[in-house]
Amino acid sequence: MDNAGKFYINGKWVDPISSEKMDVINPATEEVITQITLASEEDVDLAVAAAKRAFESYSQTTLEQRLGWLENLLAIYKRRYGEVADTITMELGAPTTMSHEQQAAAGTAHLEDFIVALKKLKTEEILYNGELLLREPIGVCGLITPWNWPINQIVLKVIPALATGCTCVLKPSEFTPLNAMLYAEMIHEAGFPAGAFNMVQGAGPVAGATLSRHPDITMMSFTGSTRAGKAITKDASENIKRVTLELGGKSPNIVFDDVDIEDRIAWSVNAVFNNSGQTCDAPTRMLVQRSIYDDAVTVAKRVGEQASVGDPTKEGSHIGPLVSHIQFDRVQTLIQAGIDEGATLLVGGAGKPDDTNEGYFVKPTIFADVNNNMRIAREEIFGPVVSMIPFDTEEEAIEIANDTPYGLAAYIQTPDAKKADRVARQLRAGMVLLNGSAPMAGSPFGGYKQSGNGREGGLFGLEDFMEIKMIHKL
Ligand code: NAD
Repeated sequence: MDNAGKFYINGKWVDPISSEKMDVINPATEEVITQITLASEEDVDLAVAAAKRAFESYSQTTLEQRLGWLENLLAIYKRRYGEVADTITMELGAPTTMSHEQQAAAGTAHLEDFIVALKKLKTEEILYNGELLLREPIGVCGLITPWNWPINQIVLKVIPALATGCTCVLKPSEFTPLNAMLYAEMIHEAGFPAGAFNMVQGAGPVAGATLSRHPDITMMSFTGSTRAGKAITKDASENIKRVTLELGGKSPNIVFDDVDIEDRIAWSVNAVFNNSGQTCDAPTRMLVQRSIYDDAVTVAKRVGEQASVGDPTKEGSHIGPLVSHIQFDRVQTLIQAGIDEGATLLVGGAGKPDDTNEGYFVKPTIFADVNNNMRIAREEIFGPVVSMIPFDTEEEAIEIANDTPYGLAAYIQTPDAKKADRVARQLRAGMVLLNGSAPMAGSPFGGYKQSGNGREGGLFGLEDFMEIKMIHKL
């Protein structure tokens, strides 16, 4: 990639001031793909200055102009779709079928939906008291994204910023920087004015923290760990920035005894293994009603044993590696914690799968007889690890489900619509999904409690990037 060592500032690919480099590693082979430059404070300052200058005119562009650039971008994205998917396979290790059908597809779905939502956005309305209400772009936005669904997260932040008339500086994850570079090339080709979108590469504690502290940034939008979310919130407090956070999860998946056990347990296991378990809203705590618990354990064991890991460049539904050595070590520690705490290891366990010397591959793992106080029930593992917890009554299921510092998603498996609705209303989570449904583009994506405070996607995602102004009508 020609621009790998560069940053995109004020409509051009520029040579960084910093000379600090970082290898981008293919997690399946551990080979170096290329190197990026890690931005210094001075590099971030240049990007923010460009965004600040551009805000004056970009914030005055019309909705029709911005829709035009978004439509251009959509056409370009569709043309370069395969490159996005292949890049995500290379730098994240997502298997190619999954990269094409899910990772890259999220980029199209959200962009298409933002175009629909932007046409519905009310930027002016008369309040019930007769006064005028305006929704205006909030200003210069700092956008920090993680590596696990990289283009999904970039689109969920960059597009609402640009759509509402904000200018922005993106700092993507240093572990998956290359898909972001492709996206910057596409934004350039789409014709957005210089300075509306800027991008630096860099490490969280330097580039990320400089953005969060920067006096010329009005809003930080962050997706990543709760740890980094807290640091960003503190850094951003200096000039009272708006901070929207999409953080981790430990989502409960309540399986009632009236389900088709084979079908629902297979879905429940595979939903955790998808993307090697590196999904913030994965249904990682499987709560199973005791009357079907033994049967569910039998099915889960069989499904887990059938799961395979392998080369992400090959087509198929197998599982790829984890993104990095850091993640590999973290997942190993938590699998060992589950064994040490006395959970029953059904499938997998510590160590690498057979036949994988290179690559950050882990064994797809299922624990049964977990109780909700164990580390594997409380901490986000971010690997292909399922924790099965038995329950007796509906009330107990709700209590266990809500007994977590997180509140991103919750899942319910039952054909009984009344029960599903009754339980869903009592769960402290931002999204409740039933019988294998997935969050749709346009629905608010975000969590309660330590899972964050923002809502991404659709109209909610646009409004997060807007200030409200009232004007007294004469
Ligand atoms: P991370 O928090 O380490 O990194 C995410 C981003 O934050 C990266 O760009 C990183 O460089 C930056 N960063 C790190 N420390 C920073 C700091 N002090 N100041 C500013 N920026 C900083 O997380 P990760 O390991 O990249 O991603 C995995 C985590 O993200 C998981 O906890 C997962 O649940 C969460 N996640 C949440 C959602 C969601 O929508 N709720 C989506 C994806 C991932």
